[in-house]
Amino acid sequence: MIPPGSTLGVLGGGQLGRMLAHAATRMGYRLHVFEPAERCPAGEVASREYNANYKDIERLREFAQSCAAVTYEFENIPVEPLWEIEKLVPLRPHWEVLEICQNRMREKKWLRKNGVPHVPFAEVEVGDDLAKAIKRIGLPCVVKTADFGYDGKGQLKVTEAADVEQAVVAFARERAVVEKFIDFKCELSVIVARNPQGEIRTFPVAENIHTKHILDFSIVPARIPSAVADRAGELAINIAESMTLEGILAVELFYTDDGELMVNEMAPRTHNSGHWTLDGCVTSQFEQQVRAVAGLPLGDTGRLAPASVMVDLLGDAWDWSDGQLVGSPAWGKLLEDPQVKLHLYGKQEPRLGRKMGHFTVTDSSPDKALNHARQLKSRLSERASAL
Ligand code: AMP
Repeated sequence: MIPPGSTLGVLGGGQLGRMLAHAATRMGYRLHVFEPAERCPAGEVASREYNANYKDIERLREFAQSCAAVTYEFENIPVEPLWEIEKLVPLRPHWEVLEICQNRMREKKWLRKNGVPHVPFAEVEVGDDLAKAIKRIGLPCVVKTADFGYDGKGQLKVTEAADVEQAVVAFARERAVVEKFIDFKCELSVIVARNPQGEIRTFPVAENIHTKHILDFSIVPARIPSAVADRAGELAINIAESMTLEGILAVELFYTDDGELMVNEMAPRTHNSGHWTLDGCVTSQFEQQVRAVAGLPLGDTGRLAPASVMVDLLGDAWDWSDGQLVGSPAWGKLLEDPQVKLHLYGKQEPRLGRKMGHFTVTDSSPDKALNHARQLKSRLSERASAL
């Protein structure tokens, strides 16, 4: 067990690192951040920020030596330099878990090998016949780059035979996976934590609504039968056990009209769909990450409110005119509401599609919380205030 008073390290300095820093410092730890970009959201609230490339072994060593354990909040980190960290301090989760999750092909093969229900797929190596793979999976399908894809980046939906050629050109030089397009009833996620002693806990299942591939609303509890929520939780626990996870992992799933659950993606870190836990759960996902990484007993994951809805605030919520920023959202509309908590990530520059913050609405039922959240979101962009 790594006791409070020690220093934990995080690779990546975005909003997930920032919220981890809040949780770690509240529990008496110091948090050191390693992030290439200066003045990152996590660096602003951490005890120390190391700015260097992830391949800068010397700086990584220096960083690791200052920490009792290291975790990460970002998946697109090369794994080889992490071997150096592991020689010095525990890296949690282990680099092998990161290696599986950061590549869609490896991830899907892992799911298949471990008997976890997943979206039917075909692997396409560079030079393989993509058109043939598409034919095997059938239309409609989604072609996704194997490496470093997230939030819908590097993917193309192929609906008709006429679109196949476009996909063949777009993915000519890439390793890819072709996935069956799933006409799902809803998207779900489960966040699971496991500490090095083997204790495991899941958070309540979230129902996620994406817009343009980016998370828009997370609704908790998910509006699904409790037996399905239990099954989703069991799936996440099985995954965590099979990986001998040490840390936290998010599992995204599709729930179909036939009552099937299929894993779409996994991320060995805290997750956007778990932000509601900051305001609606006894233990936040960030505190749970600290506990799991430090080898402390895991926290209670019970809900504090009957329902919570988290809304992502992208740069789009700011007031733009002809591509120029002219105003910020009317924060007063959120702040005057007693059922709302606002979180902003301290990013200097709003941009379209950039995650700038989120807010959580608690209410007496998931439907009420969602309606409430939708109303607030539209009022927020209706009237922006002058900068
Ligand atoms: P991903 O980057 O794989 O998480 O994809 C982003 C979003 O695109 C998902 O959350 C889904 O809304 C949608 N999506 C991705 N893959 C599929 C699929 N095979 N079938 C249907 N929708 C998908």
